[in-house]
Amino acid sequence: MTARKNVPIIKPTEGSMFDAVLARLDIASKIYGLSEDVTMILRSPQKAVKVSLPIMMDDGKMHMFEGYRTIHSTILGPSKGGIRYAMDVNDEEVKALSAWMTFKCAIANLPYGGAKGGITCDPRTMSEGELERLTRGYTVALADVFGVDHDIPAPDMGTSAREMAWILDAYNKVHRSDFPGVVTGKPVGLGGSLGRETATGRGIMVATFAALKKMNLDPKKVTAAVQGFGNVGLNSARFLHEHGIKVCAIGDHTVTLWNPKGIDIAAAIKYTKENKGVLKGFTGGVEIKNSELLTADVDVLVPAALQNVITKEIAVDIKAKLIVEGANGPTTPEADEILQKKGIIVVPDVLANSGGVTVSYFEWIQNKYGNYWTEEEVNIKHDASMNAAFETVWNNGQQYKTTMRIGAYITALKKLEMGINAKGHY
Ligand code: GLU
Repeated sequence: MTARKNVPIIKPTEGSMFDAVLARLDIASKIYGLSEDVTMILRSPQKAVKVSLPIMMDDGKMHMFEGYRTIHSTILGPSKGGIRYAMDVNDEEVKALSAWMTFKCAIANLPYGGAKGGITCDPRTMSEGELERLTRGYTVALADVFGVDHDIPAPDMGTSAREMAWILDAYNKVHRSDFPGVVTGKPVGLGGSLGRETATGRGIMVATFAALKKMNLDPKKVTAAVQGFGNVGLNSARFLHEHGIKVCAIGDHTVTLWNPKGIDIAAAIKYTKENKGVLKGFTGGVEIKNSELLTADVDVLVPAALQNVITKEIAVDIKAKLIVEGANGPTTPEADEILQKKGIIVVPDVLANSGGVTVSYFEWIQNKYGNYWTEEEVNIKHDASMNAAFETVWNNGQQYKTTMRIGAYITALKKLEMGINAKGHY
């Protein structure tokens, strides 16, 4: 019997993703000395919306999908965050991801709060027409939540510029408006920014180089493993490879490959483009298990696929000296402790993958001005922003004698505390 399409999967984890957010928030609040009132405000998302989306499928049958949008915080500005299409999307996951967006935007020094959205669906099994109807239905249902100065969606796992164009069109049709900045990550030519598509991967590379410098490691002598070959994993591997780091392991949901001499990343990308976006069948390395990539004998590990992959069991066997988190929430709080004890430096998700939302912000500015930048201008501004955020997080980690992850949370808490106290309460 084949599995039924689009039926939510509940996967057991070491605790919910929102528990993982609260665990880190509580540690950082304690070390930093945050007031209980501010901690309490940050523990509760401001608004959580759930929508039911009846969609006509290609076979003529109606299917009911569940969609979510959670606005965690608007303390520092309009809420910002992507929309995820995946089978494990649920209210807890979206809540956790929305909170991470609040911290991420604060760390990247953007004038934004945090939000996240998602639909429980398997986009790989759906036709383009079904996905378009679903995306338009979701946008119409949330047309009063989204807004250029209120809540601005973007791509995330399972979505891309194509879905953002549908959101843009559906939103503007409902409002009889023409706001390009109501969504970011749009196609270039419809108000999208040059450099946005590759921005998260570029940020991973910049953060990796910044960390290697602190660790006195020569990038030319360093090896890496990258888990995931979607937008983030593919571009991370590409930028690391182009900047002289030997990428010895890559993998996606179809296959994981190992080559101690270094994988030809350009050839792997070409292969996936010609083979329905998957690595299966690419011969640039020998096949290994997915978990073997995480514990491979490399210097740098970039988990850029799913959440909760670095569990305490995996953490014990990790050999990398540096982990740069491309995915959101790839490490469990239990694994954090083990990595810290082993002296492994972790550049946390809320810093490492902030290149995407940073260039989203640049796109939003360009839309507001109606004036567009060259890719070089975008990249220069992005690199400067990532390096500045890295330095602040590193310094907070050192000052508070803690990990980079808790240093990152403290960086965000300082800004959020200021915003909450300056705005006052009622
Ligand atoms: N989904 C991306 C993230 O998790 C980008 C969000 C955005 O650009 O608003 O950071």
